[in-house]
Amino acid sequence: MAKILSGREVSARIKDELKGEVSELKKQGIFAGLAVIIVGDDPASRVYVNNKKKACEELGIYSEEYALSGETSEEELIGLIERLNKDDSISGILVQLPLPKHISEKRILESINPQKDVDAFHPINVGKIMTGDYDFVPCTPAGIMELIKESGVSVSGKDCVVIGRSNIVGKPMSMLLLHQNGTVTVCHSRTNNLKEKAKNADILVVAIGKPKFVTGDMIKEGAVVIDVGINRLEDKKLVGDVDFEGAEKVAGAITPVPGGVGPMTIAMLMKNTVKAAIINRTEKKI
Ligand code: NDP
Repeated sequence: MAKILSGREVSARIKDELKGEVSELKKQGIFAGLAVIIVGDDPASRVYVNNKKKACEELGIYSEEYALSGETSEEELIGLIERLNKDDSISGILVQLPLPKHISEKRILESINPQKDVDAFHPINVGKIMTGDYDFVPCTPAGIMELIKESGVSVSGKDCVVIGRSNIVGKPMSMLLLHQNGTVTVCHSRTNNLKEKAKNADILVVAIGKPKFVTGDMIKEGAVVIDVGINRLEDKKLVGDVDFEGAEKVAGAITPVPGGVGPMTIAMLMKNTVKAAIINRTEKKI
Protein backbone atom coordinates (compact mmCIF):
# COMPACT_ATOMS: atom_id res chain seq x y z
CA MET A 1 0.00 0.00 0.00
CA ALA A 2 1.20 3.48 -0.85
CA LYS A 3 2.27 6.08 1.69
CA ILE A 4 -0.44 8.74 1.84
CA LEU A 5 1.02 12.23 1.43
CA SER A 6 -1.30 14.30 3.58
CA GLY A 7 -1.40 17.93 2.52
CA ARG A 8 -3.46 18.66 5.63
CA GLU A 9 -0.63 17.51 7.89
CA VAL A 10 2.25 19.04 5.93
CA SER A 11 0.44 22.38 5.48
CA ALA A 12 -0.41 22.52 9.21
CA ARG A 13 3.29 22.04 10.00
CA ILE A 14 4.33 24.75 7.53
CA LYS A 15 1.70 27.18 8.84
CA ASP A 16 2.87 26.54 12.37
CA GLU A 17 6.45 27.43 11.42
CA LEU A 18 5.22 30.54 9.58
CA LYS A 19 3.21 31.66 12.61
CA GLY A 20 6.44 31.74 14.61
CA GLU A 21 8.22 33.59 11.82
CA VAL A 22 5.43 36.19 11.52
CA SER A 23 5.64 36.92 15.23
CA GLU A 24 9.47 37.14 15.14
CA LEU A 25 9.28 39.57 12.22
CA LYS A 26 6.85 41.79 14.12
CA LYS A 27 9.51 42.16 16.82
CA GLN A 28 11.82 43.49 14.09
CA GLY A 29 9.16 45.94 12.89
CA ILE A 30 8.22 43.93 9.80
CA PHE A 31 4.47 43.31 9.43
CA ALA A 32 3.16 40.93 6.77
CA GLY A 33 0.00 42.16 5.04
CA LEU A 34 -1.99 40.62 2.20
CA ALA A 35 -4.51 42.42 -0.03
CA VAL A 36 -6.95 40.12 -1.77
CA ILE A 37 -9.05 41.47 -4.63
CA ILE A 38 -12.13 39.68 -5.88
CA VAL A 39 -14.20 40.96 -8.81
CA GLY A 40 -17.74 39.67 -9.31
CA ASP A 41 -19.57 36.97 -7.41
CA ASP A 42 -18.22 33.61 -8.56
CA PRO A 43 -19.08 31.23 -5.67
CA ALA A 44 -15.88 29.14 -6.00
CA SER A 45 -13.73 32.31 -5.95
CA ARG A 46 -15.59 33.47 -2.83
CA VAL A 47 -14.71 30.20 -1.04
CA TYR A 48 -11.02 30.53 -2.04
CA VAL A 49 -10.87 34.16 -0.88
CA ASN A 50 -12.49 33.30 2.47
CA ASN A 51 -9.97 30.48 3.00
CA LYS A 52 -7.08 32.83 2.26
CA LYS A 53 -8.37 35.41 4.75
CA LYS A 54 -8.85 32.71 7.37
CA ALA A 55 -5.28 31.48 6.90
CA CYS A 56 -3.99 35.06 7.37
CA GLU A 57 -5.94 35.36 10.63
CA GLU A 58 -4.55 32.04 11.88
CA LEU A 59 -0.98 33.18 11.27
CA GLY A 60 -1.31 36.75 12.55
CA ILE A 61 -0.96 38.23 9.06
CA TYR A 62 -2.86 41.46 8.41
CA SER A 63 -5.28 41.13 5.49
CA GLU A 64 -7.53 43.42 3.48
CA GLU A 65 -10.27 42.30 1.14
CA TYR A 66 -11.51 44.31 -1.82
CA ALA A 67 -14.78 42.79 -3.08
CA LEU A 68 -15.54 44.68 -6.28
CA SER A 69 -18.68 44.50 -8.38
CA GLY A 70 -18.62 42.47 -11.61
CA GLU A 71 -19.13 45.80 -13.46
CA THR A 72 -15.79 47.22 -12.27
CA SER A 73 -13.73 48.60 -15.16
CA GLU A 74 -10.19 47.55 -15.98
CA GLU A 75 -8.97 51.10 -15.25
CA GLU A 76 -10.61 51.12 -11.80
CA LEU A 77 -9.02 47.79 -10.95
CA ILE A 78 -5.60 48.97 -12.13
CA GLY A 79 -6.07 52.14 -10.06
CA LEU A 80 -6.63 50.04 -6.93
CA ILE A 81 -3.60 47.84 -7.67
CA GLU A 82 -1.40 50.90 -8.20
CA ARG A 83 -2.51 52.26 -4.83
CA LEU A 84 -1.74 48.92 -3.14
CA ASN A 85 1.64 48.76 -4.94
CA LYS A 86 2.59 51.96 -3.07
CA ASP A 87 1.01 51.02 0.28
CA ASP A 88 3.82 50.33 2.78
CA SER A 89 1.55 48.12 4.90
CA ILE A 90 0.79 45.70 2.05
CA SER A 91 3.40 43.02 1.34
CA GLY A 92 1.42 40.92 -1.11
CA ILE A 93 -1.35 41.58 -3.64
CA LEU A 94 -3.50 38.78 -4.94
CA VAL A 95 -6.14 39.16 -7.63
CA GLN A 96 -8.46 36.18 -7.51
CA LEU A 97 -8.88 34.60 -10.94
CA PRO A 98 -10.87 34.23 -13.14
CA LEU A 99 -11.74 37.86 -13.84
CA PRO A 100 -14.89 38.98 -15.70
CA LYS A 101 -14.48 38.74 -19.48
CA HIS A 102 -14.27 42.53 -20.08
CA ILE A 103 -11.06 42.74 -18.00
CA SER A 104 -7.71 41.66 -19.46
CA GLU A 105 -6.13 39.18 -17.06
CA LYS A 106 -2.74 39.83 -18.65
CA ARG A 107 -2.92 43.61 -18.12
CA ILE A 108 -4.03 43.18 -14.51
CA LEU A 109 -1.32 40.67 -13.60
CA GLU A 110 1.29 42.89 -15.25
CA SER A 111 0.17 45.88 -13.17
CA ILE A 112 1.08 44.19 -9.86
CA ASN A 113 4.48 45.17 -8.45
CA PRO A 114 6.56 41.99 -9.05
CA GLN A 115 7.91 42.28 -5.49
CA LYS A 116 4.34 42.03 -4.16
CA ASP A 117 3.24 39.34 -6.62
CA VAL A 118 2.60 36.51 -4.16
CA ASP A 119 0.90 34.35 -6.80
CA ALA A 120 4.06 34.66 -8.97
CA PHE A 121 2.06 35.21 -12.16
CA HIS A 122 3.82 38.45 -13.26
CA PRO A 123 6.00 37.85 -16.38
CA ILE A 124 9.11 38.93 -14.44
CA ASN A 125 8.47 36.27 -11.81
CA VAL A 126 7.58 33.69 -14.49
CA GLY A 127 10.93 34.45 -16.18
CA LYS A 128 12.78 34.12 -12.88
CA ILE A 129 11.34 30.63 -12.43
CA MET A 130 12.80 29.72 -15.79
CA THR A 131 16.30 30.85 -14.77
CA GLY A 132 16.06 29.38 -11.28
CA ASP A 133 16.75 32.75 -9.61
CA TYR A 134 13.36 33.35 -8.00
CA ASP A 135 11.79 34.87 -4.90
CA PHE A 136 8.24 33.64 -5.41
CA VAL A 137 7.09 30.28 -6.76
CA PRO A 138 3.45 29.82 -7.86
CA CYS A 139 1.63 28.38 -4.86
CA THR A 140 0.40 25.05 -6.26
CA PRO A 141 3.75 23.86 -7.73
CA ALA A 142 5.53 25.09 -4.57
CA GLY A 143 3.14 22.98 -2.46
CA ILE A 144 3.70 19.97 -4.70
CA MET A 145 7.47 20.21 -4.18
CA GLU A 146 6.87 20.07 -0.41
CA LEU A 147 4.73 16.95 -0.81
CA ILE A 148 7.39 15.27 -2.95
CA LYS A 149 9.91 16.09 -0.22
CA GLU A 150 7.53 14.48 2.27
CA SER A 151 7.58 11.25 0.23
CA GLY A 152 11.29 10.90 1.05
CA VAL A 153 12.12 10.44 -2.65
CA SER A 154 14.86 12.69 -4.03
CA VAL A 155 14.00 14.24 -7.40
CA SER A 156 17.60 14.18 -8.64
CA GLY A 157 18.06 11.79 -11.57
CA LYS A 158 14.45 10.61 -11.49
CA ASP A 159 12.15 10.35 -14.49
CA CYS A 160 9.47 12.95 -13.79
CA VAL A 161 6.32 13.16 -15.88
CA VAL A 162 3.98 16.16 -15.62
CA ILE A 163 0.61 15.74 -17.31
CA GLY A 164 -0.82 19.20 -18.07
CA ARG A 165 1.01 22.30 -19.30
CA SER A 166 -0.97 25.22 -17.85
CA ASN A 167 0.84 28.41 -16.85
CA ILE A 168 -0.20 28.04 -13.22
CA VAL A 169 0.57 24.35 -12.65
CA GLY A 170 2.14 22.22 -15.40
CA LYS A 171 4.78 24.60 -16.80
CA PRO A 172 6.20 25.98 -13.52
CA MET A 173 6.02 22.46 -12.05
CA SER A 174 8.23 21.10 -14.82
CA MET A 175 10.78 23.89 -14.19
CA LEU A 176 10.94 23.21 -10.43
CA LEU A 177 11.54 19.50 -11.06
CA LEU A 178 14.23 20.36 -13.61
CA HIS A 179 15.95 22.71 -11.12
CA GLN A 180 16.10 19.76 -8.73
CA ASN A 181 17.79 17.68 -11.43
CA GLY A 182 14.81 15.58 -12.45
CA THR A 183 14.56 14.41 -16.08
CA VAL A 184 11.26 15.96 -17.04
CA THR A 185 8.66 15.01 -19.66
CA VAL A 186 5.67 17.34 -20.04
CA CYS A 187 2.54 15.76 -21.51
CA HIS A 188 -0.66 17.42 -22.77
CA SER A 189 -3.77 16.73 -24.82
CA ARG A 190 -1.77 16.08 -28.02
CA THR A 191 0.77 13.72 -26.46
CA ASN A 192 1.11 10.33 -28.16
CA ASN A 193 1.39 7.16 -26.09
CA LEU A 194 0.50 8.96 -22.85
CA LYS A 195 0.01 5.71 -20.95
CA GLU A 196 3.50 4.52 -21.81
CA LYS A 197 5.03 7.86 -20.82
CA ALA A 198 3.13 7.99 -17.52
CA LYS A 199 4.18 4.44 -16.71
CA ASN A 200 7.82 5.42 -17.07
CA ALA A 201 7.52 8.03 -14.31
CA ASP A 202 9.24 7.71 -10.95
CA ILE A 203 7.42 10.93 -10.06
CA LEU A 204 4.08 11.56 -11.76
CA VAL A 205 2.27 14.91 -11.42
CA VAL A 206 -1.22 15.02 -12.89
CA ALA A 207 -2.95 18.39 -13.48
CA ILE A 208 -5.52 18.10 -16.25
CA GLY A 209 -8.98 18.52 -14.71
CA LYS A 210 -10.43 15.15 -15.81
CA PRO A 211 -11.91 12.93 -13.08
CA LYS A 212 -10.00 9.66 -12.48
CA PHE A 213 -8.20 9.98 -15.83
CA VAL A 214 -5.01 8.27 -14.67
CA THR A 215 -5.65 4.65 -13.73
CA GLY A 216 -3.54 2.14 -11.81
CA ASP A 217 -2.28 0.48 -15.01
CA MET A 218 -0.67 3.80 -16.06
CA ILE A 219 1.51 3.95 -12.94
CA LYS A 220 4.95 2.47 -12.34
CA GLU A 221 5.32 0.25 -9.27
CA GLY A 222 6.53 2.40 -6.35
CA ALA A 223 6.09 5.79 -8.12
CA VAL A 224 5.29 9.03 -6.29
CA VAL A 225 1.91 10.18 -7.60
CA ILE A 226 0.74 13.77 -7.12
CA ASP A 227 -2.88 14.42 -8.02
CA VAL A 228 -3.57 18.12 -8.55
CA GLY A 229 -7.05 17.75 -10.05
CA ILE A 230 -10.16 18.89 -8.24
CA ASN A 231 -13.31 17.60 -9.93
CA ARG A 232 -16.82 17.58 -8.54
CA LEU A 233 -18.91 14.63 -9.69
CA GLU A 234 -22.66 14.73 -10.22
CA ASP A 235 -23.21 13.23 -6.77
CA LYS A 236 -21.18 16.22 -5.39
CA LYS A 237 -18.22 13.99 -4.44
CA LEU A 238 -14.79 15.57 -4.95
CA VAL A 239 -12.30 13.46 -6.90
CA GLY A 240 -8.90 14.04 -8.43
CA ASP A 241 -7.49 13.35 -11.89
CA VAL A 242 -6.16 10.01 -10.62
CA ASP A 243 -8.26 6.95 -9.81
CA PHE A 244 -7.11 6.80 -6.19
CA GLU A 245 -8.31 3.26 -5.39
CA GLY A 246 -6.50 1.72 -8.35
CA ALA A 247 -3.41 3.92 -8.07
CA GLU A 248 -2.68 3.44 -4.38
CA LYS A 249 -2.23 -0.30 -4.95
CA VAL A 250 0.70 0.39 -7.30
CA ALA A 251 2.20 3.72 -6.17
CA GLY A 252 4.87 4.09 -3.49
CA ALA A 253 3.33 7.37 -2.31
CA ILE A 254 0.21 9.25 -3.36
CA THR A 255 -1.74 12.40 -2.51
CA PRO A 256 -5.44 12.09 -1.67
CA VAL A 257 -8.19 14.39 -3.03
CA PRO A 258 -9.34 16.24 -1.04
CA GLY A 259 -6.62 16.80 1.56
CA GLY A 260 -3.58 16.56 -0.71
CA VAL A 261 -2.38 19.39 -2.94
CA GLY A 262 -5.34 21.72 -2.10
CA PRO A 263 -4.34 22.67 1.49
CA MET A 264 -0.71 23.11 0.41
CA THR A 265 -1.61 25.86 -2.05
CA ILE A 266 -2.83 28.20 0.72
CA ALA A 267 0.13 27.38 2.98
CA MET A 268 2.48 28.36 0.14
CA LEU A 269 0.56 31.60 -0.41
CA MET A 270 1.20 32.41 3.24
CA LYS A 271 4.88 31.54 2.77
CA ASN A 272 5.10 33.90 -0.22
CA THR A 273 3.36 36.65 1.78
CA VAL A 274 5.88 36.35 4.61
CA LYS A 275 8.72 36.40 2.08
CA ALA A 276 7.20 39.51 0.46
CA ALA A 277 7.04 41.19 3.88
CA ILE A 278 10.77 40.62 4.29
CA ILE A 279 11.57 41.83 0.77
CA ASN A 280 9.39 44.95 1.08
CA ARG A 281 10.04 45.48 4.82
CA THR A 282 6.32 46.07 5.25
CA GLU A 283 5.17 48.34 8.04
CA LYS A 284 2.28 48.07 10.48
CA LYS A 285 -1.05 49.41 9.17
CA ILE A 286 -1.97 52.67 10.83
P1 NDP B 1 -5.97 23.82 -17.41
O1 NDP B 1 -7.33 23.51 -17.91
O2 NDP B 1 -5.44 25.21 -17.52
O3 NDP B 1 -4.92 22.86 -18.12
C1 NDP B 1 -5.19 21.50 -18.30
C2 NDP B 1 -4.04 20.84 -18.98
O4 NDP B 1 -4.34 19.46 -19.08
C3 NDP B 1 -3.76 21.35 -20.39
O5 NDP B 1 -2.38 21.53 -20.59
C4 NDP B 1 -4.31 20.24 -21.30
O6 NDP B 1 -3.60 20.07 -22.49
C5 NDP B 1 -4.09 19.02 -20.41
N1 NDP B 1 -5.06 17.96 -20.78
C6 NDP B 1 -6.39 18.06 -20.87
N2 NDP B 1 -6.91 16.88 -21.25
C7 NDP B 1 -5.87 16.03 -21.39
C8 NDP B 1 -5.76 14.67 -21.80
N3 NDP B 1 -6.84 13.96 -22.11
N4 NDP B 1 -4.53 14.13 -21.83
C9 NDP B 1 -3.44 14.85 -21.50
N5 NDP B 1 -3.48 16.14 -21.13
C10 NDP B 1 -4.68 16.72 -21.09
O7 NDP B 1 -5.95 23.31 -15.90
P2 NDP B 1 -5.10 23.72 -14.60
O8 NDP B 1 -3.67 23.38 -14.78
O9 NDP B 1 -5.46 25.09 -14.18
O10 NDP B 1 -5.75 22.73 -13.54
C11 NDP B 1 -5.70 21.33 -13.68
C12 NDP B 1 -6.50 20.69 -12.56
O11 NDP B 1 -5.90 21.04 -11.32
C13 NDP B 1 -7.95 21.16 -12.44
O12 NDP B 1 -8.74 20.09 -11.97
C14 NDP B 1 -7.90 22.24 -11.38
O13 NDP B 1 -9.12 22.38 -10.70
C15 NDP B 1 -6.84 21.69 -10.47
N6 NDP B 1 -6.13 22.70 -9.69
C16 NDP B 1 -5.97 22.45 -8.36
C17 NDP B 1 -5.29 23.33 -7.57
C18 NDP B 1 -5.12 23.00 -6.13
O14 NDP B 1 -4.84 23.89 -5.33
N7 NDP B 1 -5.24 21.74 -5.74
C19 NDP B 1 -4.74 24.59 -8.09
C20 NDP B 1 -4.88 24.71 -9.53
C21 NDP B 1 -5.57 23.80 -10.29
P3 NDP B 1 -3.55 21.18 -23.68
O15 NDP B 1 -2.60 22.24 -23.19
O16 NDP B 1 -3.03 20.43 -24.83
O17 NDP B 1 -4.95 21.68 -23.83
